[in-house]
Amino acid sequence: MLMKFTYSCGQKPLDGYEVKRGVGRGGFGEVYFGLSEGGKEVALKVIQSHLEIELRGIQQCLNLKHANLVHLYDIRTDAKGDRWLVMEYVAGESLNTILARHPNGVAPELACQWFQGLAAAIHYLHDHGIVHRDLKPANIFLEAGSVKVGDYGLCKFIGGSQRLGQTQSVGTVHYMAPEISTGNYNRQIDVYAAGVILYEMLSGHVPFEGETAGEILMKHLTSPPDLTKVPGEFRPVLDTALAKNPAQRFQTIAEMGRRVAAVVAKKAEPIEIPIRVLDAAPSLNGKADVLEGIPIGHPPRPRLLELSNSLLLAIILSGVFAFAWTILTQRGDWRTLRQATGTTFFITLLSSAAVLVAAKVWSARQSDESWHRRITLMCLGFCVGIVALWFDGFQLPWPMTEDPNPDALRSVANVGAQAGRGPSFLGGYRDNQTLPPMAAYLSYFGLMFLVLRWWKMAELYRPARFRVGSLIAAVFWAFVLSHLLLESTNGPEAFGIMILTAAVVQLASPWQERPVQRSKRLRLKLA
Ligand code: ATP
Ligand code: MG
Repeated sequence: MLMKFTYSCGQKPLDGYEVKRGVGRGGFGEVYFGLSEGGKEVALKVIQSHLEIELRGIQQCLNLKHANLVHLYDIRTDAKGDRWLVMEYVAGESLNTILARHPNGVAPELACQWFQGLAAAIHYLHDHGIVHRDLKPANIFLEAGSVKVGDYGLCKFIGGSQRLGQTQSVGTVHYMAPEISTGNYNRQIDVYAAGVILYEMLSGHVPFEGETAGEILMKHLTSPPDLTKVPGEFRPVLDTALAKNPAQRFQTIAEMGRRVAAVVAKKAEPIEIPIRVLDAAPSLNGKADVLEGIPIGHPPRPRLLELSNSLLLAIILSGVFAFAWTILTQRGDWRTLRQATGTTFFITLLSSAAVLVAAKVWSARQSDESWHRRITLMCLGFCVGIVALWFDGFQLPWPMTEDPNPDALRSVANVGAQAGRGPSFLGGYRDNQTLPPMAAYLSYFGLMFLVLRWWKMAELYRPARFRVGSLIAAVFWAFVLSHLLLESTNGPEAFGIMILTAAVVQLASPWQERPVQRSKRLRLKLA
């Protein structure tokens, strides 16, 4: 089909790049093959100026790097005001083109290999808080044996309703999860789309076809997929991935990737496999290439047991660290030190437990964007602040404490005063005015929980069990916030508690080195 493009060979609509030829047109505009001034091959995607682009946040996509993602180099504006997306030029074919040559689908082993590349890319995006939203074979390329996923996050930045009519009504709806019509959806839509793509790779057809977009959408909403068209061993996986209710699908794409791998490996249990992606396009280099293995997740572990082990370890570590911290930073008689150790221990344990539990929940779901997690942590920080306030002897402004008896309040305040360092373990608030210290405690603990990505300290595949960098970040913020928010007479406890928490969380969380990436030659027959 001869396509007419706005720009032809040799034109330089965008400063620094020369158009060589048009390669296609999609929902956002035209795509060209071009060269930079230095001779680098690039794909230039012009996004028509009437489409509104939300530039805030697109930087996040520009800086993603993954072997299975089409690299985005830049977003630029030309003299006419059109936006251009400058990205890696993928010389291979799109999965769309390949599937057009295989009307009955490709070999299950091959589909599985490609699926692993796709799953690795989606897993990486989800891990970075990005939902692809437009997964379909036209946005998946196979180049030199490697799966490359493109157009990630674009729908988020370019108003979906503004897209050119034809792709919206034809290509995209085949991969649309039912909940998209409700407007309330999350990364589960990518799991669904991945299920549709797997179905298509195995059978050569999408599960729901129809004359109009409306008919297809209705089938997504109401019809069960006809799984008799795919090999029997894939049916349970596809049944789960294509569930109408997102809660019944695989909760993470990594989980789905493992199940698909297990089907091919004919193992009952999910396994962790290296991703080896073969190229079906004989036109590329004539033989199958192999991509280095990339782990896409960790095998399911007994989460509750793991969490209870971590909490047990956190109790011991908090105790030891609180004692060491108090000895190092405080002076006083045995009773004073015992009181201070007890308080530091309890609050450290409480904050560590809050982080460990939250991180464990998130490791299962992989949902939520970074900010959602931070806000949740901040709320947990507020709770820790309230408990710290109570430990400190301040009455809480609740009805049952309307008639406070200062003598009945905890004696920690007096102990602190005896130690010559202010009346309380955290602050120098000598009077019993609840609100200023309350505001200070809540802000301190709330912000401490907000500013750091605490869940990263508890991740299974973090770079090292204990990262000094994380500790330094905690020291820095604890220092800044305690100086800004708490009284200058404060002891080192508030400061110490958050540093100890950073140490306890890391040491108490299970850690595994990322499996070594292996590569292995595979010879698979094409379908
Ligand atoms: P959508 O707008 O929903 O993504 P689409 O994928 O069909 O729909 P485009 O992404 O605009 O449309 O792509 C148009 C054509 O350009 C496709 O044929 C695609 O193969 C090609 N293309 C897109 N990006 C690249 C790239 N980075 N390298 C090489 N070819 C590309
Ligand atoms: Mg595309």
